[in-house]
Amino acid sequence: MVSKDNFRQVVPYVPGEQPKENDVIKLNTNENPYPPSQGVMETLSHIDNASFRKYPDPDVSDLVSEIADYHNVNKEKVFVGVGSDDVLAMCFLTFFNSGRQVLFPDITYAFYKVWADLFKINYREVPLDEDFNIVPSDYLAENGGIVFPNPNAPTGLVMPLDRVEEIISNNPNNVVIVDEAYIDFGGESALSLVDRYSNLIVTRTFSKSRSMAGMRIGYCMGNEKLISVLNSVKFSYNSYTMSEVAIKTGVASVKDDSYFQRIVGKITETREKTKEALTDLGFTFPDSSANFIFAKHNRIDAEQLFNALKENKIFVRHFDLPRIKDYLRITIGTENEMKALLDFLKKYIENN
Ligand SMILES: *Cc1c(COP(=O)(O)O)cnc(C)c1O
Repeated sequence: MVSKDNFRQVVPYVPGEQPKENDVIKLNTNENPYPPSQGVMETLSHIDNASFRKYPDPDVSDLVSEIADYHNVNKEKVFVGVGSDDVLAMCFLTFFNSGRQVLFPDITYAFYKVWADLFKINYREVPLDEDFNIVPSDYLAENGGIVFPNPNAPTGLVMPLDRVEEIISNNPNNVVIVDEAYIDFGGESALSLVDRYSNLIVTRTFSKSRSMAGMRIGYCMGNEKLISVLNSVKFSYNSYTMSEVAIKTGVASVKDDSYFQRIVGKITETREKTKEALTDLGFTFPDSSANFIFAKHNRIDAEQLFNALKENKIFVRHFDLPRIKDYLRITIGTENEMKALLDFLKKYIENN
C-alpha cells in the first residue's frame, strides 16, 4: 500500500451543485441566465477541424489582443487562462512565494484558502467589519501579498476605488490581486490603476457577465513585468491551457459589446427590483453590486429556507460558516425566474 506521506494533503473547494435535471431554477452559482452573444454561437458553428486537430496557439494572441484593445491597454499587460480560477491559481503560484503571510478577507471567495493550502502558502484571514466591509487599514501589516474580490463574494459589497487604491499604494513591495469577477455589474474597476502601480493585478472572467462559464475563459491585467513572470510560470506548467474553441468564441464575445452591455443592464435592473421585493418579504442584505444578493430573513432560518426552496426545485447557495450561516446567496436570474422565487418565498413565509 502506498504510504500516505507521499500524497499532497488537500481539502478541496466545493463548487455549487450542478443538478442534472433541466426543470430547475438555478440561482446557486452566479451563472448568467441569458445566452452568450449571437456572434459567439455563429463562430462556434464555423469552427473547422483544424481547431481540433492542431494544438492551439500557446500565446493565445488573438484573444489577448482583443482583450487588450477592449480595455485600451497594451497586450504585454494581458494574461489569459482557463477561467479566472486558472488565472488566480497561476497568480498564487507565481507571486506568493516570499514565505510571509498572504492576506485575504475571512468572508470571501473560498478558493483563496484552498489554493494557499495547495501551494503551501502561508496566509492570514483578515476579518471584515461587522457590516461585512473590507477595512483597508487592516492590510497595512507586513505581508507576502494580498487578494480580495471587488465586489466581494458572497457579500456583493463593492469597495470604492480610493479604498482599493489605499491597499495597493501601501503595499508597493508585494503583489495585490483585485479579483473583479463581478465588476461589470457595479463598482469602479481598478484597471485604471494598472499603469500607475507595478504591484497590481486585476482579474476578470467570462463566466458571469459574458454568459460563458462553460467555456472557461478568464484573464488578468497588470504591469508588463508581472505578466511576463506569470507567462514563464505558465509555460513551465502547461503551454496549451486554452482550447482553440475557447479562444475563438472568446474573441467573438468581446467584439459584441452592445449585446454585452444590454445583458448586464438587464441583470442589474432585475437585481434592483429583486432587492425591493426581498425587503418587502422581511429580508435584509448588504447592498449588492454583483449578480447575486446575500440575504437573511428576519424570522426564518436560512438552512430551512434553502431546503424548502430546493424541494421546490429552486437552487440557491447556503454556506454553513460561523459568520454567514444565516444568509442565502441568491443569483439574479431572468425576470421570470425571480418571480417564481419571490412567489414561492411569499407563500412559504406566510405559512411558516
Ligand atoms: C466565479 C468566480 C471566480 C472564477 O470564475 P471562473 O469561472 O473560474 O472564471 C473567481 N473569483 C470569484 C470571486 C468568483 O465569484
